[in-house]
Amino acid sequence: MENKKEMRTWLDDLNLSHPLVIAGPCSAETEEQVLKIAHELKDTDVSYFRAGIWKPRTRPGMFEGVGALGLKWLQKVRQETGMKICTEVANAAHVKLALEHDVDLLWIGARSTVSPFIMQEIADALEGTDKPVLIKNPVNPDLALWLGGIERIYKAGVKNIGAIHRGFSTYEKTKYRNNPEWQMAIEFQNKYPDIPLINDPSHITGKRDMIFDVSQTALDLNFDGLMIETHYDPDNAWSDASQQVTPKTLVQIMKDLKIRKETDPEVDYNKQLDNLRAQIDVVDNQIIELLGKRMKAADSIGALKKQKNVAVLQSKRWNEILGKMVIEGESQGLSEEFILKMFKAIHQESINHQEKIING
Ligand code: PEP
Ligand code: MN
Repeated sequence: MENKKEMRTWLDDLNLSHPLVIAGPCSAETEEQVLKIAHELKDTDVSYFRAGIWKPRTRPGMFEGVGALGLKWLQKVRQETGMKICTEVANAAHVKLALEHDVDLLWIGARSTVSPFIMQEIADALEGTDKPVLIKNPVNPDLALWLGGIERIYKAGVKNIGAIHRGFSTYEKTKYRNNPEWQMAIEFQNKYPDIPLINDPSHITGKRDMIFDVSQTALDLNFDGLMIETHYDPDNAWSDASQQVTPKTLVQIMKDLKIRKETDPEVDYNKQLDNLRAQIDVVDNQIIELLGKRMKAADSIGALKKQKNVAVLQSKRWNEILGKMVIEGESQGLSEEFILKMFKAIHQESINHQEKIING
């Protein structure tokens, strides 16, 4: 797939002076609910009103969406508020219905992007449409699978393309509902700078009080927009209750977010600097997380050594690690002196931990 400016025509044509905002409830519940939220979002920075009509739920028996009936409610939203409308499609029948109802933008959910069969079925049904199609990242952190899904849609003649970063499932529990793995989004932008990239802080965080921070990080990393789930009564929403915000909160979030200014040569420099610093902040956080993980493994080794009454310091193993890391470091342009200093500090910390465990 080539990287083409035309992919972002749909976004450039909106001529926005701020990042794109897509907002609306996780699910369309009733006609009244959809219209009430839409009217509260009218005359804000929201360009597209979202609502899920067909809901992919983890377990059967949960609310699975109102179905095609909801498309009529979305049409009413457009008619009454002037906002463009969008919804998720997950198979050929959904695509057919959404296009018949002239939905302005379609997105493909994370549980669909994982399946090449489903993606091909959706791509075939979308063939040649000029509607923008946004592809969410797959649930698992696999950049190739995400790009492959986008490629299928592009190959079906869809020219207006975008991607939504909604985070990734992890086996280990983190503070996020779906771990952002920001480096994956950065890699995505490096490969396809002209595909608009939208952040979905709602599904990343799963919690409304974390939405602002994740949105700010996304803007600092040059994302083109945000998709934020919005409901007038979040706590009583029929799906994703804990992550939705009220329209009023959404407006406040948009106001408080630091958005980069128009470009001029000076601003351009600052923009690049901000972007690089944001990348460094992300990596620094990852380093700390990884060091924590390494220390946990060292703790477990300490417990094992205690059981077997084995000495904390194992010189042979330690020298092997050092030798290997010096070579690895060199291949990354890091000096031997730095690697030795860093690993000695890490090693010392591990020994301190193990000492405590064995003697504690
Ligand atoms: C949604 O946007 O409501 C949704 C189901 O998202 P995801 O595919 O990211 O889980
Ligand atoms: Mn949702």
